[in-house]
Amino acid sequence: MTPRPADQRFDVVVVGAGVIGTAIAARLSSTSARVCLLEATDDVAEGASKGNAGITSSYYAAPGTLESDVIATSYRRWDDVCRRLDVPFRRIGAVMAALTSDEADGLPGELANAKACGVAASIVSGDQARRLEPLIGPDCIQGLVLPDEGIIDPMRLCVGFAELAARNGVQVRFDSPVIDIESQDGRVVAVITPQARIETSFVVNAAGLFADQISELAGGTNFKMWPRKGEYWLIDRDWGRTLRHIVFAAPLPDSKGIHVVPTTNGTALLGPSVTDSDRRYDKTTDAEMLAHVTEKTKRLVPSVPMDRAIKAFAAIRPASEKKVRIEVDEVVPNLVHAINRSTGVSSSLGIADRVAELLAGAGLDLTVRTDALDHIPTVRRLLLDPEPETLAALDPRYTQVVCACEDVSAAEIQAALEMAVPARSIDGVRKRTRATAGRCQGSVCMAGVTFMCSLAQNRAPGDVVVTAAGTAGA
Ligand SMILES: Cc1cc2nc3c(=O)[nH]c(=O)nc-3n(C[C@H](O)[C@H](O)[C@H](O)COP(=O)(O)OP(=O)(O)OC[C@H]3O[C@@H](n4cnc5c(N)ncnc54)[C@H](O)[C@@H]3O)c2cc1C
Repeated sequence: MTPRPADQRFDVVVVGAGVIGTAIAARLSSTSARVCLLEATDDVAEGASKGNAGITSSYYAAPGTLESDVIATSYRRWDDVCRRLDVPFRRIGAVMAALTSDEADGLPGELANAKACGVAASIVSGDQARRLEPLIGPDCIQGLVLPDEGIIDPMRLCVGFAELAARNGVQVRFDSPVIDIESQDGRVVAVITPQARIETSFVVNAAGLFADQISELAGGTNFKMWPRKGEYWLIDRDWGRTLRHIVFAAPLPDSKGIHVVPTTNGTALLGPSVTDSDRRYDKTTDAEMLAHVTEKTKRLVPSVPMDRAIKAFAAIRPASEKKVRIEVDEVVPNLVHAINRSTGVSSSLGIADRVAELLAGAGLDLTVRTDALDHIPTVRRLLLDPEPETLAALDPRYTQVVCACEDVSAAEIQAALEMAVPARSIDGVRKRTRATAGRCQGSVCMAGVTFMCSLAQNRAPGDVVVTAAGTAGA
């Protein structure tokens, strides 16, 4: 194939705008590197990064592993990073509840792991566990308390990373699937999308479940990714708000098991299940699996009210032979892989640092820019603001509540539509504001959100995109 002339030239092209790709783009945006972030879909957080539990683990894997290292370099930084990136975060702590003597026998090993990772942890009696988290059931005989575990809004984290990157000059391009990669003398020289040929000195492969395809296109190492599905129940805020801690089950050999986790907006998640398959696009839920999730959850927290379930959903972990792959490709020296199956949110800051080190080690100039922003503007939120009554004086649109379930005002939706990386669909508004995500799932507020999108985007309401799959009029 005769190479087309370049439409543009960058030092680094990052492929994939999930939590890992956006974190890397944000990290590189504070340096002299010219960076382009390419995403196949129409927004950030369209893959695993939108359907996860939003736990920021303080430790997970065995000490000394790559996974535990990148978590360790991330977990203490969340309070500061989330303040700067306008991301909801609470370090609420977790209790791992052992209900049988076998499960209790596993707790000292977990305690040793946590301590070896430098994490605060202690074993307490069942009664002490219940005093900390009164919703834990009477069968709990011992608990492992992990005070540094946190909860984050994982979609707002991607939005925050991408917004910072864009404000610092990273080109963020959506609807730009990488369909080919050109190489010369064993090095990648250009990345091809349907719209452009982009010359680059380095490619960072943060394509999650599709990272094997990017490696293949680049002539890199041959590895296989496969989908590991996880199914969840989402429980309404009136009960979720009463949960003070994450409640973990005693872990299984290759998974943290099914847990009960409060979200930053007050709902609660029950799950996830674990199913490996070869169907990368299969996000269906299964009644039997969801019944299993309910049963496992009720063991831990018997009062979970299933009549308060808002919805069930499935998300896909990017699984591979290596749980975590952050490395320069074995064959192509200017291709860097950045993939994490189960803890990509918790480790995204550490992964971004590690990728920057690998790029610098491979010869990329990463001079720190003194003029780079380290924060994005904060948008005050009706639901979470300590003084919501003062907001109308800032902007009268705070008095117009568009989404009553989640208390989202017109001011917040307008801000989402005017960001450097704006919401381009109703789903994009949902990720940035939670409008349409509450108990009515948009049946009341969809019209108002559609109307605001149509005005901001200067298109007919019927042409407003709902999700990547279709428009409001379709
Ligand atoms: C059920 C479940 C629960 C989880 N719970 C947690 C948790 O509590 N805490 C935690 O830390 N982690 C958790 N995880 C793991 C975490 O979600 C993942 O590790 C993380 O989201 C992976 O991020 P990513 O950016 O690599 O992948 P993704 O978010 O999947 O992003 C990859 C992106 O690449 C894009 N892409 C693919 N191919 C191309 C192409 N050819 N061109 C351009 N773009 C392309 C995709 O469209 C996608 O947007 C959970 C995962 C699941 C599924």
